[in-house]
Amino acid sequence: MTLSAASLYDRVQRVIPAIEWPVFSDDIDAILKLKRERNAVILAHNYQTPEIFHCVADIVGDSLALARKAMEVEADVIVLAGVHFMAETAKLLNPSKTVLIPDMRAGCSLADSITPQDIRLLRQRYPGVPVVTYVNTSAAVKAESDICCTSGNAKAVVESLGVPRVLMLPDEYLAQNIAKQTDVEIIAWKGHCEVHERFTPEDIREMRAAHPGVTVLAHPECPPEVVAEADFAGSTAAMSDYVGREKPASVVLVTECSMSDNVAVEHPDVEFIRPCNLCPHMKRITLGNIRSALERNEHAVTIDPTVAARARLAVERMLAV
Ligand code: SF4
Repeated sequence: MTLSAASLYDRVQRVIPAIEWPVFSDDIDAILKLKRERNAVILAHNYQTPEIFHCVADIVGDSLALARKAMEVEADVIVLAGVHFMAETAKLLNPSKTVLIPDMRAGCSLADSITPQDIRLLRQRYPGVPVVTYVNTSAAVKAESDICCTSGNAKAVVESLGVPRVLMLPDEYLAQNIAKQTDVEIIAWKGHCEVHERFTPEDIREMRAAHPGVTVLAHPECPPEVVAEADFAGSTAAMSDYVGREKPASVVLVTECSMSDNVAVEHPDVEFIRPCNLCPHMKRITLGNIRSALERNEHAVTIDPTVAARARLAVERMLAV
């Protein structure tokens, strides 16, 4: 059966009111047609809004899942419904394919917090200490690194190196949260996710007081004091798995807003409490600019070949862990 906007509404009716649906349906039909014509796939991060995540995306997940699945894509064109570093990662793993990001301004406060020059200076200061770089970085920064990691595999990556000390960049809070789980000494940088750094321990205590019995799941980009107040901390994929496995009566996902909507669609029996923070960069991606990306072949991601070769190595080392 050929998918159409009309046949897709059932999927999202819990999170998109019927009155809003006509705003989306035209673009959805156009995007489904353009995907067929251009042999294109859409990769969408868990923080994309439900009409993108559930209605036009072919592959969804966290950064790690998107990086892994990007390697298996057979289409000619990949549209990345996420932020720029994710599109770069898809391009690194698919150098011969066209990779499009619908809005070049979709950045990331973590990616902006560190430069290749910073890493070169750190290597001088900590000679011989391996550099583990979170995937939320530019290709140029990845190229200066020994290996990448995501919030889903950071502990395994750090421990795979068999060394007593690593530099883990650029997310200070992720580094501090992982340091609590491993004997490896972790030297952190001072980057923060502008979405997760805004949560406070008081927020969690207030949620618990207002919703007795609620299960609190936090992303490890939150400050350690916030993670300490949660029942579980993990990547967006781990949070989603937790809800599916444990089926809490009510849950709060301490992360970006769209995550709760996307997980709620799959779990109608779970009550989702939704205090959250929006990522302005993720929200730059809309159905309208995905459609126009496919119509105009914009904006194609390019990476200097020398940088790409070195950055790819760091990503591939991670994927091999
Ligand atoms: S949520 Fe945070 S880490 Fe993710 S893209 Fe937005 S700013 Fe970057």
